[in-house]
Amino acid sequence: MRAHEAGALHGDLGYRGPAWLRTPEDVNALVPQLWPRTVSRTEAGSLEIGGVNVADLAQEHGTPAYLLDEDDLRSRCREFAAAFGDADVYYAGKSFLCKAVVRIIQEEGLFLDVCSGGELAVALKAGFPAEKIGFHGNNKSVSELSRALEAGVGRIVVDSFDEITRLTDLSKKSNKRPKVLVRVTVGVEAHTHEFIATAHEDQKFGFSLAGGAAFAAAVKILDEGVLDLRGLHSHIGSQIFDTSGFEVAARRVLELQAQIRDARGVELDELDLGGGFGIAYTTQDDPSTAGDLAKRINKIVEGECDLANLRKPRLSVEPGRAIVGPAVFTLYEVGTVKDVDGIRTYVSVDGGMSDNIRTALYDASYSATVAGRRSPAEPMLARVVGKHCESGDIVVKDEFLPADVRPGDLLAVPGTGAYCRSMASNYNHVPRPPVVAVRDGASRVIVRRETEDDLLALDVG
Ligand SMILES: *Cc1c(COP(=O)(O)O)cnc(C)c1O
Repeated sequence: MRAHEAGALHGDLGYRGPAWLRTPEDVNALVPQLWPRTVSRTEAGSLEIGGVNVADLAQEHGTPAYLLDEDDLRSRCREFAAAFGDADVYYAGKSFLCKAVVRIIQEEGLFLDVCSGGELAVALKAGFPAEKIGFHGNNKSVSELSRALEAGVGRIVVDSFDEITRLTDLSKKSNKRPKVLVRVTVGVEAHTHEFIATAHEDQKFGFSLAGGAAFAAAVKILDEGVLDLRGLHSHIGSQIFDTSGFEVAARRVLELQAQIRDARGVELDELDLGGGFGIAYTTQDDPSTAGDLAKRINKIVEGECDLANLRKPRLSVEPGRAIVGPAVFTLYEVGTVKDVDGIRTYVSVDGGMSDNIRTALYDASYSATVAGRRSPAEPMLARVVGKHCESGDIVVKDEFLPADVRPGDLLAVPGTGAYCRSMASNYNHVPRPPVVAVRDGASRVIVRRETEDDLLALDVG
């Protein structure tokens, strides 16, 4: 009854059907596309990941913790690599990077994108081959560019005229000829389920296509001859479900490529269409498989090459979220349950916006389930919030949890592998949670929990 009223109050919340159809079984059920592949609910009622019970993981590693299903991550790497075949798959390291993940990416045959000196340092420290690294960023410093040149990164995606000048100077001084791509702003912006193909040139990334800057940048690099221009790059956004944005982007970039050929007689060999492939955060999301994406994107590129009368360049893509996002869930412990009468029930967990800023930052939607037991209670519409001094500190805006959810319950929030730990903060001096990889019945800490001593170590005043 309560759930029904709240559902009506908040309109179409869209979680696994209308509130009045929901049963205790619905609330205990795990919808497969939301969870890492080895996750299941045991007979006894608690979740298991990689063959290990979450209660044992909570005991050993504490909460909150990011639990990474290593087999799931590896299988997604393999699926992308296999599906894209002779196209190169660059894992977008900004989604989540640590040495263990770098090694997994390498073992599974992917390339790696970094976008700062820090990410480059992690990749190199883990022994990732520099020639398989791509370097992004709209404001790479002289020091970052020098380190990239010194390490011999495989390609640098140039993003401004200032950067071309900077990199050209450094290359001359060090007698190097780095491979570069020109990042093109194609006027397509895709976020979530929609894309808009006009007037999204107003952003900090890339060279504008419509304004002629992208053409000018490519021609400048070709004419100067210091940098080795390999191709063009476009990244249109993130959490994209519909490939029509890629179609428009590919058409526009390939038209530019034809224009460059006509002006300078050079047919560029490489084309990078970026990342941004969507994943399921709630049951409303229905993401494509890597195989489907690869088929559609290859077809789009072939079609557009035919139209522009170009031979097909070597393609690359840069998924981050689609590889690591679904492989992780965050395990929290419930601390307080507050029924704000007639409005909603607030379930507070022992983390929040410091370990997942996406809800506050992007109004992102997530799902949650009680992880430590199966509940016989009726569903109740709840909001999962954190422990921070900020009313926007929301983890899951709306979710049906069993009405008997109580302090001490373990709560799991899936889909937190990308842009959660990597964007984590120390707000309120809350130490950042560990990342624990689980596989074949064993767990290992790959990023340890931050301590108050870690926080104080920086405080040298
Ligand atoms: C962020 C980003 C990506 C990865 O985006 P996902 O949504 O994680 O797939 C790829 N390429 C570029 C240039 C990016 O900025």
